[in-house]
Amino acid sequence: MNLKSLSRVVAGLTLTFAIFVAVVAQTSSRPSPSVERLRAHINYLASDKLEGRRTGSEGANLAAEYIAKEFARYGLQRSIGYDTPGMSVLEADSPNRYLQKFPYVAGVELGKDNFLAFKENDRQSPTALRVGDDWMPLGFTAQGSSKQTPAIFVGYGITASELNHDDYAQAKIKGRIAIAFSGTPDGDNPHGQFGRYEDPRWKAIAARNAGAAGLVLIAHETNFKDDRLARLRYDNSGGEAGMPVLAISRAAAAQLFETDAAGLNQIEKSGVINKNPGTLPEDSPWPRIDFSIDVAHREAPAANVVGIVNGFDPVLKNEFIVIGAHYDHLGRGGEGSLAPREGEIHHGADDNASGTAGLLELARIFASSDSPRPRRTLIFIAFSGEEEGLLGSDFYVNHPLRPLENTVAMINMDMIGRMKDNKLIVGGVGTAQGWRQVIDASAKFWGIGVTPNVDSYGATLPGNLTAKASQTATTPLDTVRAFNFTLQEDGYGPSDHSSFYAKKIPVLFVWTGTHEDYHKPSDTADKINYEDETHVVSFVERLIQNIDAAAVRPIYTVAKSESQGRSMGFRVYLGTIPNYADNGDGLVLDGVRDDSPAAKAGIKAGDRIVKLAGREVHNVYDYTYALGEMKAGQEYEVELLRDGKQLKLKITPAARK
Ligand SMILES: [Zn+2]
Repeated sequence: MNLKSLSRVVAGLTLTFAIFVAVVAQTSSRPSPSVERLRAHINYLASDKLEGRRTGSEGANLAAEYIAKEFARYGLQRSIGYDTPGMSVLEADSPNRYLQKFPYVAGVELGKDNFLAFKENDRQSPTALRVGDDWMPLGFTAQGSSKQTPAIFVGYGITASELNHDDYAQAKIKGRIAIAFSGTPDGDNPHGQFGRYEDPRWKAIAARNAGAAGLVLIAHETNFKDDRLARLRYDNSGGEAGMPVLAISRAAAAQLFETDAAGLNQIEKSGVINKNPGTLPEDSPWPRIDFSIDVAHREAPAANVVGIVNGFDPVLKNEFIVIGAHYDHLGRGGEGSLAPREGEIHHGADDNASGTAGLLELARIFASSDSPRPRRTLIFIAFSGEEEGLLGSDFYVNHPLRPLENTVAMINMDMIGRMKDNKLIVGGVGTAQGWRQVIDASAKFWGIGVTPNVDSYGATLPGNLTAKASQTATTPLDTVRAFNFTLQEDGYGPSDHSSFYAKKIPVLFVWTGTHEDYHKPSDTADKINYEDETHVVSFVERLIQNIDAAAVRPIYTVAKSESQGRSMGFRVYLGTIPNYADNGDGLVLDGVRDDSPAAKAGIKAGDRIVKLAGREVHNVYDYTYALGEMKAGQEYEVELLRDGKQLKLKITPAARK
């Protein structure tokens, strides 16, 4: 008997005879989560070597390899079969067979054919600008070229109906290129009324809606290379802008306006160009622009790591419980980072090396020959692409390695390493009948090896879980609540369980809450509360056991929604669940909330919205933009594609509470 693990198991409990008996039973057989192993996993995954595990990066690949090798060591079944297309003979027994690869655009880079020149009038020869030094395409630009396109100044390029602000109201913009300052009339005030309109995505939509042929944004920083617009980057969830979008340096803009730095500042402040006082911009002789934009998408390998523990019951082994945690993080910052500066490694120890380490411990425990075999089949998945918009889990539910209709539950661990005051949050409680009882039963301390005697779903539990378990007591040992719970109903949330819930699979989401190091380089391994993480992992282990012990699978229910989108500051609510991973034209919905305006309108999961409230919808940004213009209680038209057919429905947004 191992004294160290004994003391860990009984920590925090009144030592009674009954506990002692059970602990003996446990230590003689089933392994338990270990502080040392969790620490080793998190130390490696959150190390500088892995550089923040950004999807598609070398660091993420190293993490995937590590997880796959651990799966192999524990004896998990490889999830990718010999017959998988593209599998070479050499790969057949390699850890690669744990990898479910999915397509991923790691970034964008300049192609060979980038050119930008302008001339103020017909007498001049064109001024050519150097890409990288004077101008840069934006990552979400469309490709294309144009000659002698007239340009027009549009202030900040903002259309905000609720603020009665429209920079395009006076401009004859049709077929012209809009030139706008980046930022907003709020200046440096981050809490100003124009808040979200600063996003170049929104400006591009405003320009496109107004009929512009393209958008040129003037950099904010004096030194162009310091400007965030000068960094060519790509986000995987937004799609293309549908027209050319590029940034130019302030020096180039001054040249374009035939002024100097001070003159440009004056134009920015006043929103007026003084070179032809008394005339509206569109009447002025405006420059013409020649350009060619060539931006190449750089594909990179990305993969979920999937290992399987087969169930032993001849019938129930065809039911699957997915246990998931994402292993990717933010790399050196960029999209999603809350760090003030860029370039530092975001270690992601809590987010989500902690969940990945928990996943590995659970895989080790359930695969161990000292543990009773589960009756149902367990699928352990370390997801990638989570931080970019649940890309890996979205790919899995659309390319499942075992049938989704027999996937009876998904349990997600994301950020389980910073427990404070025993606080544990469990989401998804409303997604299956009896989830509360399962949580309750799992929260009570069970000597492992004791048959859980609560049948979660109201059916009769068979007499014994396994031969091994039946040899020990069947009484719960203690009713000490290990945790101070916060239970949340909703099955949608900011992590991979959302992808499964959207497919009507009951989910549970376990996490220890957010903290000041969230999405910052300072989320490091030394700040993890390892002792308490072992308790969280034990709790998830009991959740799995309790789900597995029940005679019938969890019954999916529609959860009450917690209001979403409040952070976006919208006044209206539709109740749609957008899919952020789809890159096609339009906006695909993962789901529609019950009783919501969208449900009442007859909108369904899988619908692709192409037009909303008179606005074309090419991507999630267009959709959000249209939403921002809508008013509660007013009827709008929504146009969508369903099974290849175009449909027009009426929707009346509700006021957001
Ligand atoms: Zn995160």
